[in-house]
Amino acid sequence: MSKTPMAAIAAFAFAAASASAANVKVTPLGTHDGEFCAQDRALVFEDPNGTRILYDPGRSVAGAEDPRLGKIDVVLVTHMHGDHAGNIHIKDVNQGECGKPDTPVSSMPKSLAVEIALAKKSKMVTGSEMQAFFAAKLKANGGNAADSMLARYGGSVTVGGVKIATVTAMHSNGLDPDYIGGDLGKAMKEAGIAGDVGLATGYVLRFSNGLVAYLSGDTGITADQQTIGAYYKPNFAVMSIGGNPNMTGPQEAAFVMNDYIKPASVLATHVNEAATQGGKVLPNSKTAAFQKAAKMSVYVPLSGKTMEFDGGGHCRAGC
Ligand SMILES: [Zn+2]
Repeated sequence: MSKTPMAAIAAFAFAAASASAANVKVTPLGTHDGEFCAQDRALVFEDPNGTRILYDPGRSVAGAEDPRLGKIDVVLVTHMHGDHAGNIHIKDVNQGECGKPDTPVSSMPKSLAVEIALAKKSKMVTGSEMQAFFAAKLKANGGNAADSMLARYGGSVTVGGVKIATVTAMHSNGLDPDYIGGDLGKAMKEAGIAGDVGLATGYVLRFSNGLVAYLSGDTGITADQQTIGAYYKPNFAVMSIGGNPNMTGPQEAAFVMNDYIKPASVLATHVNEAATQGGKVLPNSKTAAFQKAAKMSVYVPLSGKTMEFDGGGHCRAGC
């Protein structure tokens, strides 16, 4: 018996609903609504099963009370630089210029990452020696040291159904002596010496719908990216493209994407420029150069605009 039109519509609606339920939602938390701005780093990934993961809170989240955060199950920190762990941050969205947002609030000596983990009772998953540092910070501020979980290179942990591994990021990772304070912190600062919390990392996340996301962290080109592509086979990437003098710029980042990681889609991040105006990419921006040089779909994280990616890394909504 053939379906009545109503039944066909209902079946279609159900298929559409279950397709959207199988997508990973990615929501950028930037400094300016609807734009992609200089200090924007923070992204919230939501697995179809509801697990929510915050990647590098940085300076564009308005403290642990920022209503955009919602429930956070896991906080990821690629390295200890202030624009990732969060030394200072915005007081509210849309303050200052997109190219130079106002970030008047200090999170030192805790870091915004720790403040959020404490408030949300999140796990923190980091590699190298950052795990011990965050465990001590959580404990010193009334939290649970065991909430700081280790995923050293080659290992992984699974939290809320999402498998989290750390991978190489070729970058510096000195700990600002302001995290230490006291006479020791002062002496280190005067000598120009940073604390040692091990190597910087990137991440590979495997979500329950099959999406495999490579989160580059800040990095140069490294042969390890070829191995990451070969072994984890990421179908989605978040790539830092900030360029001189810190890390890969648009051309180097495009090479890494085209030749090593080869995802279906990539989200540009860490651009250190006002990349958009009215939500449109500015033609002379690094972001535009990256879009031109990368062979796959390049998306732009507009603050507050949720994108949805299926298990194959293809954008299904919001891009
Ligand atoms: Zn950075």
